[in-house]
Amino acid sequence: MRIRNKANYITGFLLVAVLLLGTIPTYAAASDVPKNIILFIGDGMGVSHITAAKIVNGHLNMERFRVVGLLTTHSQTDLVTDSAAAGTALATGFKTFKGAISVSQDKKPLKTAVEYAEEMHKSTGLVVSCSITHATPAAFVAHVDSRKKNTLIAEQIAESGVDVLFGGGLGFFLPESTAGSRRNDEKNLLAELKNRMPVVQSENEFQTLGKVDSAAGLFAMVHPPKATERKPSLCELTRKAIDILSGNENGFFLMVEGSQIDWAGHQNNPEFIISETIDFDNAVGIGLDFAKKDPQTLVIVTADHETGGFALHDGSINDRKVSESGFTSDYHTGAMVPVFAQGPGSAAFAGIGDNTGVGRTIIRYLQESD
Ligand code: MG
Ligand code: ZN
Repeated sequence: MRIRNKANYITGFLLVAVLLLGTIPTYAAASDVPKNIILFIGDGMGVSHITAAKIVNGHLNMERFRVVGLLTTHSQTDLVTDSAAAGTALATGFKTFKGAISVSQDKKPLKTAVEYAEEMHKSTGLVVSCSITHATPAAFVAHVDSRKKNTLIAEQIAESGVDVLFGGGLGFFLPESTAGSRRNDEKNLLAELKNRMPVVQSENEFQTLGKVDSAAGLFAMVHPPKATERKPSLCELTRKAIDILSGNENGFFLMVEGSQIDWAGHQNNPEFIISETIDFDNAVGIGLDFAKKDPQTLVIVTADHETGGFALHDGSINDRKVSESGFTSDYHTGAMVPVFAQGPGSAAFAGIGDNTGVGRTIIRYLQESD
C-alpha cells in the first residue's frame, strides 16, 4: 500500500507497530520458563557422528536449531565418563562416579528431573532404543550405585510415577519362571506395571493404543534391534509419547534417547553410526514439529559423551557418502559434545558449558514453571 500523506504515514506506522507487538507472544514467549521440556540424548554422539549423518542424509533436523553450545562431560573422578555418570549429570545437575545411577559419591540419592516434574504435576516419559533399565534412562528415574543392577532398576521403574515408558527390557520385569526372564526372583513387575498403565509388547499392540494418559511399551526382552529393523521406530514412539504427555495441562518432561549411536561407536562401525544418528535425528524432528505447534515447549538435543574418537577422513558431499573414517578408541572419549536448544529458556544453552548445567537448568525451569 502506498502512503500518500502524513496521516496515512502515521496510521501505517501504528499498524506496523501493532502487527509487530502482536507477534511478540509467538516469537518470544511472555515467560522464559517452558511448560514442556523434551530432552533428546544421542548416546555417544560427537560432532563427527552428526557430520557423517548430515553428509549421508543431506540435511538434519538438528540444523533447525539456532542456539548451539558445547558441553564438557567428565565424571567426578575421570576425564572420560560413562553413560551412568553423564546421565546422572543431565538428569540431576550433579557430577558423580562412573557406573552410578543418580546417586552421589557417597551413594545418596540425587533427585532427578523426572522427580521434579512429577512434583509439579507434570507428566513424564522415557523413550529409548535400548533396555529401559539401561544407564541413560535409568539415571532419570532410579537411584542405584551400579548401572549393572538391571533387576533393581526395573523394580524402581515399576514403582516410579513415570507415565510413558517405551523401549526394551521386558525380561527384567518378568518373574524368573517365565520364558525370557532376566530376573533371579519371582517378582512380577509386569503385573505391577499393568496395574498402573496399559502395557504393550509388540508393534501391533502399540498401534492399537488409543487415547490414554499413560502407557508402557516393552518391545524386546533386553535390547531392541538396530534402527533399520526397529519397530516401532524411535520416531513413532516419540510421536506417541508426545501425544500422550501433551494431554496434561500442567505440561510434561520427556527424555528420548538414541541409545545405539554409542554401540556403533564402540564397534567402530561408521554405517551403524550413521543409520542410528539419522534415526535419532528423525525423532528430534518430531519434537521440533510439536514445539512449532506448542511454543511453550523447550527442545534440547545433546549427548552424554563422544564414543570412538570418530573422525572423517574422506568422502563426498555430492555423492552423500563417507568413504574414509577412523577411530582412536573402542570406548568413550573426553571430547566436548554439542548441545542444541530451541524454545523458551533456550538461550541458557548457548556457549561452552558443562553437562551438569543442562540438568541444573532443566530442574530450575521445572521448579519455576506453574
Ligand atoms: Mg545410553
Ligand atoms: Zn558407551
